[in-house]
Amino acid sequence: MRTLYVKFIVITTGMMLISFIIAFLISNTYYHQKIKPVNDQKNTMVAQNIATFAKEHPEIILEDYLENLSAVGYQLYLVDNLGYEKFFGEPFRDKNLPISTKDLVLNGEIFHGILQFPRETFVTGFFANELRNSIGVPLEHNGKNYALFIRPDIKFLFSEMHVLLGWILLLAIILTIVMVLINTRYLIKPISTLTKATESLAKGKYNVELDSNRDDELGQLSRSFLQMARKLEQMEDMRKEFISNISHDIQSPLSNIKGYTNLLDNDLLSKEDRRQYVTIINGEIKRLSSLTKQLLLLASLDRNEDVMKKKAFNIGEQIKGLIRNYQWAINENGLMLSYSLPDIEIVGDPSLLNTVWDNLLSNAIKYNKPNSSIEISLEERGKSIFVTFGDTGLGMSDAEVDKIFDRFYRADKARTRSVEGTGLGLSIVATIVKLHGGQIAVESQENIGSTFIIELPVK
Ligand code: ADP
Repeated sequence: MRTLYVKFIVITTGMMLISFIIAFLISNTYYHQKIKPVNDQKNTMVAQNIATFAKEHPEIILEDYLENLSAVGYQLYLVDNLGYEKFFGEPFRDKNLPISTKDLVLNGEIFHGILQFPRETFVTGFFANELRNSIGVPLEHNGKNYALFIRPDIKFLFSEMHVLLGWILLLAIILTIVMVLINTRYLIKPISTLTKATESLAKGKYNVELDSNRDDELGQLSRSFLQMARKLEQMEDMRKEFISNISHDIQSPLSNIKGYTNLLDNDLLSKEDRRQYVTIINGEIKRLSSLTKQLLLLASLDRNEDVMKKKAFNIGEQIKGLIRNYQWAINENGLMLSYSLPDIEIVGDPSLLNTVWDNLLSNAIKYNKPNSSIEISLEERGKSIFVTFGDTGLGMSDAEVDKIFDRFYRADKARTRSVEGTGLGLSIVATIVKLHGGQIAVESQENIGSTFIIELPVK
C-alpha cells in the first residue's frame, strides 16, 4: 500500500526537482539572451587590451606575459601561420578549432566564439570549457603576427564565495527535504488517528478520543467527527429505548387483553362484569390500533419528504372543521373554547397538518382541568403564519417541556395516567412542522397552563 505519507514526500520531492529544472531552463535562456553578448563584449575588450599591450611593448617576452595572464584567471591559446601554437593556463576540454577560424583571426578579424556558441536550451554556454567558446584577436609582437584566443578560467573564477553559496544551496535543499519528512508526519498523523477512530466507531465503540484543539482544517475535521460520534451514540441509545418502549407499549395491552379474555371464559360471570371486561378489551385494542397507526406515520415521516403532498388550502377553515369534530369532547369536559381563525391560505400537506392540530387540540382537552378554557388563534405575519393553542390546564415543568417532543415521553405519570396516550403525538407534530420548514415553541407553567405556538411558512 502506498501511504499518504510516501505519496506526499514523492510529490514534494518531484515538485522540487521540476522547479529546479524549470529554474535552470529559465536562467540558461536568460544567459543566452542577455548575459552572453555582454560577456562576449567584456572578453573582447580584455583580449584587445592584451594584443595592444603586446604590440606596444616589444621588449617583453610574449610567452611569459601570457603565462602571467593565465595565472590571474584566463585560458589562452596562441598560434601563428607558421605552425607555432601554445596553450597557457588550465587546459581546454575540447581543443577543436577550425583552421578557417585561425586564418580569419591571423588575417586581422575578431572571432566572437562566446557569442556564437550554440544557443541550445540544455547547453550551459557559460561553463563549456571549449576552445570554440573563446574570443580570438589578432596579435602583433616584434613584427610577428599571431592569433590569440582567450576565455575566462571558470574553475579559477569560482572563488570561496561561490563555493560558500553552493554549500548554502545544498544545505537548504537537504534541510527542506528533512523538514518535509517531519512536517508530513505531523500532517498525516491526525488522519491515521481519525482512521483508527472510524474503525472503532464501525465496531460500535462510540467513546473515541481525538485531538480537537488544532486550529486548522484537521482540527475542524476532528471536531465534526466527534460531533458525529456523539450523534451516532445518541441515535443508538434512542433506537434501543424506542425498541424497549414499543415492546412495552405493545406488550402491556396484549397481556391485559389476554387476562380479560381469560376472565370472560367463565359462564358464571355476571352480565355487568362481562360488559365491563369487553369495554376494557375494546379500549386496549383501540390503544394498540392508535399506537400502530402513529408508528406507521412516524416511520413514513422519517423516511423522507416525499410523503408530503403539498397544496394550497384554507388553514382557518381546516382548524374550524376540527373544532366541530371535538365539540362533544369539549362540552363533556366542561371546557370553554374561544378562537380567532381568519381565512388564510397556505401551501402544505393538509392531511399531515390536520394531524398536527388534532394532536394539539386533543392534548389541550386531555391535559385540562374542568371548567378551564382553550384558546386557538391564527395570524399571518410577514412570510409566516402563527397558530397558537393555549390552555389553562395542568401545564408542565421546564424539565418536562424539554422532553415532550421525545418519542414515547409522557409527563408526570401521576397526573396523566388516567388519560389515554402513547407519548408519540408531539414527536409526530414536531416532525411534520419541521418537514414544512416551520418551528414549534412551547410556554408552560405547572397548574397554570400551556401554550403551543407553531410558525409555518406561507409558501
Ligand atoms: P400523549 O398525549 O400521547 O401522552 P404527546 O406526545 O401528545 O403524548 O404528549 C407528550 C406529553 O406531553 C403528554 O404525556 C403530556 O404529559 C404532555 N403534554 C402535551 N400537551 C400538553 C398540554 N397541553 N398540557 C399539559 N401537558 C401536555
